[in-house]
Amino acid sequence: MHSRALVLFSGGQDSTTCLALALSKYAHVETVAFDYGQRHHVELDARLHVLAHIKAQFPQWADKMGEDHLLDLSVLGQVSETSLTRDMAFKMEEGGLPNTFVPGRNLLFLTLAAALAYRRDLEVIVTGVCETDFSGYPDCRDDTMKAMQLALSLGMDKRFLIETPLMWIDKAQTWQLAQQLGGQPLVDLIVEDTHTCYLGDRVHRHAWGYGCGECPACVLRARGFERFTAPA
Ligand code: ZN
Repeated sequence: MHSRALVLFSGGQDSTTCLALALSKYAHVETVAFDYGQRHHVELDARLHVLAHIKAQFPQWADKMGEDHLLDLSVLGQVSETSLTRDMAFKMEEGGLPNTFVPGRNLLFLTLAAALAYRRDLEVIVTGVCETDFSGYPDCRDDTMKAMQLALSLGMDKRFLIETPLMWIDKAQTWQLAQQLGGQPLVDLIVEDTHTCYLGDRVHRHAWGYGCGECPACVLRARGFERFTAPA
């Protein structure tokens, strides 16, 4: 039986829901994020607020929360030019992928997460990747995750489980999952504290949280929240 987990935690809606799920399942949960020169530091600030508020508002989870790790991955900015790390507008590229796509980013994240998990003796790696998302990032696919689980387990000679609770659900169902896990207080915390907007907008407050309201990440989050809150 697994009891120790590491959550890839960026401070967004998805990874916060994954963190709540891990805290409801496992005895000890650590978190990790990567600093790769995101254009907007708000994302890294958001995650600290989320962690502090979960600790304060969910005493049943507070004792399970272990160390939070922030790994420097500035090298990503050297090998890739995207709208996440440079001052470029979001757009779709010819190959059908958005210019927020950083080739291999998730593969690097998982490899580093596994190295950390190895050292910290954590068996489960939880990540909020999702195939139903609009973006279709190839390094978020279920097959990629299964291949990584195998490669990391073989390559480090330690059995890792990569858990992807959001893989087959949409954004409305992600809100529902949060509600099941932590009720309205968790939904409210996700609305208020988590950050999704590509433009780093923390000025405009909507029913679903802060954001420009127009970038693809905001649109996706807003639509999901609308369907989640729509009367049945
Ligand atoms: Zn936005």
